[in-house]
Amino acid sequence: MRFHIITLFPDMIRAVLSESIIGRGEKKGYINIEYYQLRDYSDNKHRTVDDTVYGGGMGMLLTAMPIYSCHKAICKKIDNIVGDGVLDVPPTKSRTVYMSPKGSVLTQKKSEELSKYTDLIILCGHYEGIDERIIDEVVDEEISIGDYILTGGELPCAILVDCVARLIDGVLSDPECHEKESISSGLLEYPQYTKPFEFMGREVPEVLISGHHANIERWRKEQSIILTFKRRPDLFKIWLEKNLDSLDKNDMKFLKENNLL
Ligand code: SAM
Repeated sequence: MRFHIITLFPDMIRAVLSESIIGRGEKKGYINIEYYQLRDYSDNKHRTVDDTVYGGGMGMLLTAMPIYSCHKAICKKIDNIVGDGVLDVPPTKSRTVYMSPKGSVLTQKKSEELSKYTDLIILCGHYEGIDERIIDEVVDEEISIGDYILTGGELPCAILVDCVARLIDGVLSDPECHEKESISSGLLEYPQYTKPFEFMGREVPEVLISGHHANIERWRKEQSIILTFKRRPDLFKIWLEKNLDSLDKNDMKFLKENNLL
């Protein structure tokens, strides 16, 4: 999968995404991340890409034309990819996303949906945002990372790319990793422990060192259920509705005993 990022501050995003798992995934060629400096598409010699707001108001807006030119150049580039040697994925599906606090809030489900595209173009706003007409012209959807305001779309973009990229085959060493994790499974993940066995007088739950695989699985599932019920009743309700018909008799017994039904 290829990510094409339009930004005024590519180094901010690169610093995050070139490290650790995503960085390795890119080095190994499972994903490709291209950065486009918006100023390179400015139509004036001072390379400005922002202007004052019509009707008055504080701050500056990114103007439409440089974004349009940059987006057009990226689309042309995508059209010319014939399995690019690095990724060998023909560009069958591309989508343009604008990081915006006005968008729908990013979820795991949305990340899974976006991971099916071969090319994702991500537009990062800055200052007061961007001219509405460029959103109407080139953007397929607006995505927010939460109900708070940041100074720019760079950190939100890094979060989106991290979330989507880890779903691409090869990026995580074990594909089962993300299926079992909080949210992906429908429940929050159970508590996990590593060595030493005792820390500040707190011991690892006995069951985890019992070697009894079925009991460990049962303990983990029950912990997940309880934790989700307490912390995220909204998720618990959805999980229960979705799974009620397929729960086994141990699950039902546990739910009844803990008044979770
Ligand atoms: N004036 C805008 C408003 O009230 O909706 C906020 C602009 S914000 C200061 C500048 C840029 O940061 C936005 O264009 C967007 O790209 C990005 N941004 C800020 N908060 C965000 C969030 N929660 N999710 C995604 N992007 C965000």
